[in-house]
Amino acid sequence: MRDTVKRSAMMIIVLFAIQFFTIASPILASSHPAAETIIQDWEVSWDASQAVSPHEEDTLKWLSAKSAEETKPKNASTMWVKFKIPEFKLNSPGILINKAYAQKVTIYFDGRESYHSSRNYRYDVNKIFLPLNTDSSYQTLYMKLESKDGRIGIPEAIILDEYQRLLKTYMQHELIDIIIGGAFIFIAICILACSGFVSRDFFVSWIALSLIILSVGVMIVTYSPFLYSFYGNYGRLYYKLFDVAQSIMMPAIFVFIDRVLGAGPYGLIRKASKFLVIFSLSSVLFMIINLLSNDRINELYFLYSVTFYGFVLLASASILLWTLVYYCLKGNKEAYLLSLGLGVLMLFSIVEIIWFYAQNTEYELFLWKWGIVCFVLSLIMIFAKRIAHNHQQLLLYSKKLEMYNVELQRSEKMEIISQLAASIAHEVRNPLQVTRGFLQLLHEKSIENKERSYITLSIEELDRASEIITDFLTFAKPQTENAGLMNISQELEQIVGILIPLANLQGGKIIFSAAEELYVRGQSSKFKQGLINIIKNSIEALRDEGKIEVWAYESNEEIIIKVRDDGEGMTEDELKKLGEPYFSKKSKGTGLGLMVTFRIIEGMQGIIHYNSIKGKGTEAVIHFPSAKE
Ligand code: ADP
Ligand code: MG
Repeated sequence: MRDTVKRSAMMIIVLFAIQFFTIASPILASSHPAAETIIQDWEVSWDASQAVSPHEEDTLKWLSAKSAEETKPKNASTMWVKFKIPEFKLNSPGILINKAYAQKVTIYFDGRESYHSSRNYRYDVNKIFLPLNTDSSYQTLYMKLESKDGRIGIPEAIILDEYQRLLKTYMQHELIDIIIGGAFIFIAICILACSGFVSRDFFVSWIALSLIILSVGVMIVTYSPFLYSFYGNYGRLYYKLFDVAQSIMMPAIFVFIDRVLGAGPYGLIRKASKFLVIFSLSSVLFMIINLLSNDRINELYFLYSVTFYGFVLLASASILLWTLVYYCLKGNKEAYLLSLGLGVLMLFSIVEIIWFYAQNTEYELFLWKWGIVCFVLSLIMIFAKRIAHNHQQLLLYSKKLEMYNVELQRSEKMEIISQLAASIAHEVRNPLQVTRGFLQLLHEKSIENKERSYITLSIEELDRASEIITDFLTFAKPQTENAGLMNISQELEQIVGILIPLANLQGGKIIFSAAEELYVRGQSSKFKQGLINIIKNSIEALRDEGKIEVWAYESNEEIIIKVRDDGEGMTEDELKKLGEPYFSKKSKGTGLGLMVTFRIIEGMQGIIHYNSIKGKGTEAVIHFPSAKE
């Protein structure tokens, strides 16, 4: 028992100990003494005589670093630097020369050459790490900087510290460049890879956008000293890549804006984008020729791609600004977005420059990179907005097209029907007229009252048939003339009266109710024809014992008639097809009834719509404008 208590106590202590050390060790490490030593004064010599090694140092004339600038000869291409390593107590000491401008750097230490870097390209920023021995205190370090034409010197203090710690501070600075630049390059490659899926309208702006992002990324990465210090072998390539990226960016921005915003005032953006594309192509061509000719036309290339390009950039930037103002004034939302992105970039840059001068020492510019991130973001947003807008437009168009198509089909069918109807109706009317004539004759001759009334009825029915045919004949142009005032309740009562026997035959019944004094303007015979069609359909839809309700009322200056049955009902699809010629689900149906009915109701300025549930029943609702007596 005591044993287990002891053991668990031990365990807890061990766990605590582990905890303590994991938390405390970094704290302990950071509280380690000996902070960095900053070396600020060194001696300088401008002697370009071919002093080959520091052992001949007597031949050099040394000056203090402070007076170096004043004594610097014109076109100095060699600079010697020497300083004594201060006393230190470090485990693995190292020296970081954060910045040295030169194309060729050689460091002599401890009597031998301990660092050498030579570049055959213009990039002249060097960041140098040098591990030292623990016993290097008070020894002298010699440094030879060479630069054919351009900057030379060490603008920042030199730091002496633990090698690991130097590396960390250095990495923190430079890594962010690599991350931002790398992210840009990755995004650009993604966009480029997807370019195959983009519609032709967007292809150019899509490619332009990816080129903008790619060139920004490449510029950020290749401008950072990181690559040059760690993968220095390809330094020349990075340097050229920077040039290429730089010459791609502006034309890409212009092409993009031309595509997204428009050609700008006086077509300036389009003209400038053409010029820039040609300029950039020629500049890259120039670079390749220069490379092939081993830098023989370097001066000319420099003049073209740096000095002249500077002016071109300035001019393009002014055109860009003007265009943005122009489009913003026009109320273009994309221009607002772009201005915002560009504005943030400019703001960041200005703040940064002010800050830089205020601090006036070791301040590293970094804010502008985030400005670029904002700018690129605005470009991407504009593009996404464009694509979304176009997509919506496309949907709208296709919907409209579908509607027109349906409409067209419908009217085509109508056309055929009316032609067909016209010919048949014409043929049927002739025998009807003949029959009517003979009935008339019989009527005059017959003496018996009952017989006469039958014949009158027959003639009336024949007239109605002939009228229906006339309507059918002209159903394409429903007639509204001869429209009189109809008492709807009376009309309905007559219609229901005619149809009740038919309903009874089917085993169903019709329930009718209507308010008095409902008036609608129209032709009675047509109205009857329409409603008979509707109610007959209901009767035909009944299964066994069914019920049909017909009622009418007035509401909001409208006469509303409803016909409801509890028959078989219809599906959504069938509902949609109602009124289409030849749509019928009955073996003996014509599929013409509702077509004519809809026409009639339209002709009376009425509206009809159907509600139906399959298996439950159907309801037809008709609205007519009310007409007062
Ligand atoms: P027809 O009666 O000659 O078939 P219609 O144009 O009058 O032609 O009707 C078209 C179709 O609409 C019918 O075949 C039927 O399927 C459907 N229909 C119309 N009214 C109803 C209703 N009240 N209940 C169920 N189906 C109906
Ligand atoms: Mg019918």
